[in-house]
Amino acid sequence: MQQIVQPVAPRVIVVQPQQMLVLLDDTPTATVCKYCNKSIITNVKYKSGSAAWGMCCLLTVLGLVCGFCLIPFCVRGFKDAHHSCPYCHKHLGIYTRK
Ligand SMILES: [Zn+2]
Repeated sequence: MQQIVQPVAPRVIVVQPQQMLVLLDDTPTATVCKYCNKSIITNVKYKSGSAAWGMCCLLTVLGLVCGFCLIPFCVRGFKDAHHSCPYCHKHLGIYTRK
């Protein structure tokens, strides 16, 4: 008995509309707003995140209690970056320090 080789039907790949994934940095990032679909440069606000609190605790433990433990709250590098759309002002994401 001979096997009949069936032609492989071309697979139909259904592309689901996906939200554009943009890797947010700690600086204003060029992206497309998922709310108003405009090309934007994100607005960034810096807020003290867990990294700042962690460094604060570390400096306190090390004995730098004379205000030095507040340094992380003044240094941008320890803050989380909160991205928002300049047009619709919706919150787009947070870049958190690891
Ligand atoms: Zn927007």
